Amino acid sequence: MTIIPIKKNESNVDLKNAFIRLKDGESIHVRLLTDEDFIEYVSHESLAHKIYEMPCITPLGQDCPLCKASKVGGDEWNKALYPRSRYMFAMADLDSGELKIFKATKSQARGLVETIQECPDELNEVAFVFKRTGNTKSTVYSLNAMTTKKFKEVEDAFAKFDGKEADIPFYEERLTPKSAPYLVHLLEEAKFPIEEHFSTQLVAESREIENDSKQ
Ligand SMILES: [Zn+2]
Repeated sequence: MTIIPIKKNESNVDLKNAFIRLKDGESIHVRLLTDEDFIEYVSHESLAHKIYEMPCITPLGQDCPLCKASKVGGDEWNKALYPRSRYMFAMADLDSGELKIFKATKSQARGLVETIQECPDELNEVAFVFKRTGNTKSTVYSLNAMTTKKFKEVEDAFAKFDGKEADIPFYEERLTPKSAPYLVHLLEEAKFPIEEHFSTQLVAESREIENDSKQ
């Protein structure tokens, strides 16, 4: 596994269709390219504070406001915004024919990695049903090999990914780290006392950001 230092996203990748998103009970057919096609990165997320997954910007060489809030904000903020490992898996979506990313938490990743590494030699021959079961904390993502009979239906799409793999830029282009002022803006929206902990300039910059903008 590779742990990548993220870079600022300056690509033109269409992020709307870049990720595999499944609802409870939904499944798709996938091909796994190699047993190493996943990476680890670090991000912050607190749904209770309406802070959706934000890659940590410390690896960009910046002071990450969310790291700071978790350090100086006391128990509540520490628990909410502690930097956590996240994983991106590259999977060939055989239904759409595109190479996509699935983002996983640590516990979700563990199960997937076990399946992937159990049969590294067979990945070139086996397609999987990738399925989501459950909601919120009980959510499980499973990979089950397709039967030989069913495999016939996706054989052509499967063959198109022969010899393909996901390189580091592929992952980097799909991470979307935000600017420090934007992260401070989110903290203020979440009622974190930003004036106490951030410079006057950063606070001012964060207040220039409109609620619906993405910087
Ligand atoms: Zn951080």
